[in-house]
Amino acid sequence: MRTMRVPRQCVIVGGGTAGDVNHALKQSLAEHDRFNPMRSCSRLGRMSDLVLKNVRPWGAAATDIVIRGGRIAAIGPSNEAGEDYSGAIALPGLVEAHTHLDKNMLGMPYRPNEAGPSLIDKIENERRKKLEWRIDPERQSARQVVAGIARGTTHIRSFVDIDSAVGLSGLAGVMATREKFADACTIEIVAFPQSGLCVHEAAIPLMEEAMAQGADVVGGLDPCGVDRDPKRQLDIVFGLAEHYGRPVDIHLHEAGELGLFTLDLILERTEALSMQGKVTISHAFCLGHHDLGPVDAALTRIARNNVHLATTGSPSRPVPPLLKCVASGINVACGNDGIRDSWGPYGNGCMLERAMIVGLRNNLRRDEEIEFALRACTRGGAALMGISDYGLEAGRQADLFLVDGATPAEAVVSRPPRRLVLKAGRVVARDGAALVSAP
Ligand SMILES: [Zn+2]
Repeated sequence: MRTMRVPRQCVIVGGGTAGDVNHALKQSLAEHDRFNPMRSCSRLGRMSDLVLKNVRPWGAAATDIVIRGGRIAAIGPSNEAGEDYSGAIALPGLVEAHTHLDKNMLGMPYRPNEAGPSLIDKIENERRKKLEWRIDPERQSARQVVAGIARGTTHIRSFVDIDSAVGLSGLAGVMATREKFADACTIEIVAFPQSGLCVHEAAIPLMEEAMAQGADVVGGLDPCGVDRDPKRQLDIVFGLAEHYGRPVDIHLHEAGELGLFTLDLILERTEALSMQGKVTISHAFCLGHHDLGPVDAALTRIARNNVHLATTGSPSRPVPPLLKCVASGINVACGNDGIRDSWGPYGNGCMLERAMIVGLRNNLRRDEEIEFALRACTRGGAALMGISDYGLEAGRQADLFLVDGATPAEAVVSRPPRRLVLKAGRVVARDGAALVSAP
């Protein structure tokens, strides 16, 4: 086997299930002066051809996976030499389909959360604190990306705040991280008007500039609850999407009948612009109100238009019912949303943990049910991001990880350190530690 071995001093961010990210990041800060993180990224080197011996794809019978030129060349018994992984489960790379890389506080001093209870309280608190606490989007996004890579994440869709307070600084920082880690993780950027578009009109030209500068997706946020002008906000968002030929991803926290009303406006525009498959509704709490008659009709229309849903499985809000959505033909993806930020102190970037939370929220107990949560954290996210060569099949890009467990469900509930993480055939993490570093 010709696996690239990376010098030990590059291995700085531990990713064990109960690992203390802050502790690991403090270590990384201590080591930062001794080497250049950019140089350590380049040490991943070229793609290696390798054979993963004695692994179980998605928990099936043990076999070998042959990787050549960054792709899965074959899955089956191989006479070629390779490292024996003693029956570890091979899973396609985890997909973090909804997060906010620009504003986590990983590795920064802990700040007690004193935000008010409403959504607007949290938005306004964040506008103040992001600047006061000097949250550097480039540094912080790198830290979260490295934490995710250590835990098997190979693809990330991240929102990046665009508003008059921060301008395009968040975009510049996350774009730098996207470039720096291009060999280790695919990062897609959503230009996100966190403070609103109609109530903060300065964000409108900034959103346009963000798309022109290289954001991949047009974001939106509670057209009624934040902007109080749903038709106008959605026309701006979909107008930008049409102009730049980009997908749309809208945070929809609005509950009950109000949320269903906004959903109707989103679907109306999806149909009018033939944007089937290119629209995501994040959170969609309104679909969690099982007692509302129009929910079933909304699910049917969402499926018909191939609109993706992204959920966190929020423990504190109504959430779209995972199994019912899947049975309705809807693609559901998952994300950690913001972690360790001014909105809340939780999270470590682990998408297996997110699968567990989604499982708990949806009362998934049987192994086959828990695997639906894992599918949402893998294939569901890949479909949302439009990754066509994703998956554990011959010919697909070798984005995968190995983890111990009797079944995929056990990997979700136990979340042991990832034994190996590959991105396009490159080893990017081993034994729970990323082989790339962050400042
Ligand atoms: Zn979010």
